[in-house]
Amino acid sequence: MKKHTSPSPDLSRRRFLASLGLGGLGLLLPQGAQAAKSPADEELATLHDLSKCVGCGACVEACRETNAPKFPEPTRPFPKMFPSTVKVEDWSTKRQITDRLTPYNWLYIQSARGQFQGQRFEIHIPRRCMHCQNPPCANLCPWGAAARQKNGVVRIDDQICLGGAKCKTVCPWKIPMRQTGVGLYLKLMPRYGGNGVMYKCDRCFDRLAKGQKPACIEACPYEVQEIGPRSEMVAKAHALARNMGGYIYGETENGGTNSLYVSPVPFDILDAAVTTGPGKPDLAKAPDMMADETRMAYAALFAPVAGIVAGVLRLGSRLTGGDKDAGSKGDNDKKAKPSEPPDTSGPTPDDKENWS
Ligand code: SF4
Ligand code: SF4
Ligand code: SF4
Repeated sequence: MKKHTSPSPDLSRRRFLASLGLGGLGLLLPQGAQAAKSPADEELATLHDLSKCVGCGACVEACRETNAPKFPEPTRPFPKMFPSTVKVEDWSTKRQITDRLTPYNWLYIQSARGQFQGQRFEIHIPRRCMHCQNPPCANLCPWGAAARQKNGVVRIDDQICLGGAKCKTVCPWKIPMRQTGVGLYLKLMPRYGGNGVMYKCDRCFDRLAKGQKPACIEACPYEVQEIGPRSEMVAKAHALARNMGGYIYGETENGGTNSLYVSPVPFDILDAAVTTGPGKPDLAKAPDMMADETRMAYAALFAPVAGIVAGVLRLGSRLTGGDKDAGSKGDNDKKAKPSEPPDTSGPTPDDKENWS
């Protein structure tokens, strides 16, 4: 039985393409849609129907293959860091790992097994960056390296990230992962810099820019995931949840995200059933990290400074020959910005980063 009504595939595709801001598509939209707020003004969200996921891992393979050119190629030997307690994080010799997040694995399948309402369940949950609406990782990055784009994609610019891991410290799910021996710190301050670059799902921003869907969505044989304007995805998530008597995760977590999950089993039960820890995020209720007044103030005061710093670093990266895609983050749309002290020396004592 079909569990919820969707627009025709043709209309969905037109809305998806229009939401990417591709020119001329407004002409294809029905008159009523043209008069309404353009989907191009809206950020994109993804919706996972967890009742359909069989945990086959085709999405993980597609992500690894598609994004392999973006993976780090570290230079050895790694500079000795000061203070010497700053640890090396080298995933380059463990690239085959797929059961957690790493700089070489931006998506993995988390599985939950148990009993709910007297029935046994097995639910598989594809996990990666949630692409938060007001992302603390971007708002508090001291260097402007992490940023949110107008279409809702949250990216870390590997050309200017210094690997200080502030993004990971403030992320409710500790998503970004560090690789040592790569990035601008090697040229600027190899012994004192952030010890690498942070990596995570970039929502296949380059495929989106070409009007393609993210690789993980395209590869799934069971059509578990879809992408579209957020209001449409939220409405679909609610309809789906209603029809299956299910539950939603991601709509309000961390103040709202652009990754929605719908499950027939409550997320607190799934959270208790999944393995969590380094590179394995939980499914707990995540409070809005940016609701903290101090963080808000820091962000509001220092946004312009971080923007300038990012520009200088980008120029430095270009001059030192490291800029692979200069300008690709031109539409970054930071809602706020930082002022917390630059975190350049690696994990801090309260940093669950030591979970790496
Ligand atoms: S989302 Fe699709 S491709 Fe990925 S594990 Fe689930 S069923 Fe397989
Ligand atoms: S999930 Fe974490 S890394 Fe991803 S956008 Fe949100 S705060 Fe940033
Ligand atoms: S959106 Fe792209 S980068 Fe993110 S998990 Fe899917 S395939 Fe990987």
